Amino acid sequence: EVLASQIAAGEVVERPASVVKELLENSLDAGATEIDIHTQGGGCALIEVADNGCGMGKEDALLCLERYATSKLGSFEELTRLRSYGFRGEALPTIASVSSFLLRTREEDDPVGTEVSVEAGKLISVREIGRDRGTTVQVRSLFSRLPARRRFLRSPAREQAHLQRQVMLAAMAQPGTAFRFRHGSRGEGTVWPSARSREDRLAAIFGEDWIEALLPLQANRPEISLTGFLSRPGIGKPSREEQFFFVNRRPVESRLISAALQEGYRHSLLRGLHPTVVLWLEIDPSRIDPNVHPAKREIRFREERELWSLVVEAVAQRLGRQPVVSF
Ligand code: ADP
Ligand code: MG
Repeated sequence: EVLASQIAAGEVVERPASVVKELLENSLDAGATEIDIHTQGGGCALIEVADNGCGMGKEDALLCLERYATSKLGSFEELTRLRSYGFRGEALPTIASVSSFLLRTREEDDPVGTEVSVEAGKLISVREIGRDRGTTVQVRSLFSRLPARRRFLRSPAREQAHLQRQVMLAAMAQPGTAFRFRHGSRGEGTVWPSARSREDRLAAIFGEDWIEALLPLQANRPEISLTGFLSRPGIGKPSREEQFFFVNRRPVESRLISAALQEGYRHSLLRGLHPTVVLWLEIDPSRIDPNVHPAKREIRFREERELWSLVVEAVAQRLGRQPVVSF
């Protein structure tokens, strides 16, 4: 069982940033309004995510470390109506199988909290603790017993950049939630207080100047609504690092959206440049399939053409050009 978990770990937990992503999704699913993240050594030494969400009782705290134990899926049909981030019940047992893992949690109505300690998938101890409502997951020595996986990782600085992006994506997806992020052992770190709007959150993350240089975007179809910001004609980056897409508050990657953007900008960007874009899409959950890969962000859409033309037309119109929609 432990070995199977460790083998499967590569699927869900590729690198420290994947752990951060899973833990943040769990905290957001738990309704947290405040999330504290602390990492060390690019996430290999320490990843700690503490939230003020609903927490877990003792039974659930133990159950959540069992494979496929998710509290988020009552039936298969629910998959299609899915609004929460997690639904596979794989992340925690997988992470616990490749680290020194500590879970501290308390539910509102419970007089005491629970602490569960796991070493490389082996339950070490369960005890009662006092704490506020919410959950803290502490992951130490990630992959330390898996030298092959460790070798695949980049430098701590690179891994840190990856995990920092996950924190940023979560903060952009959920502006109402306050985030505090600290890396290393010193300093206050980054604080993004609860924001009233997506725009305010972007300003907190990237600065007022960054957001003011962008054009607001808005488009609606019966099945899809789109809001966002994009860079002016001619302005872009050599990489796609400033392209952020969210579908129903979930950060996603989509080659379709990237290509549609490029098409919308046609001739308004220099070759090799990518526009700065933040897009939030709301789509009926039955029209998307987030279940392509356990960890990857790539998302599939049922009505690809509709989405393609919506993005191309919205961007082209915003940039003041006649849209040319072709396939
Ligand atoms: P999934 O998110 O797919 O359900 P996970 O392994 O990530 O699977 O989590 C398993 C379960 O543990 C969740 O369904 C949830 O009930 C519980 N859980 C995990 N993290 C938290 C948290 N931060 N707060 C409250 N409950 C949590
Ligand atoms: Mg999860």
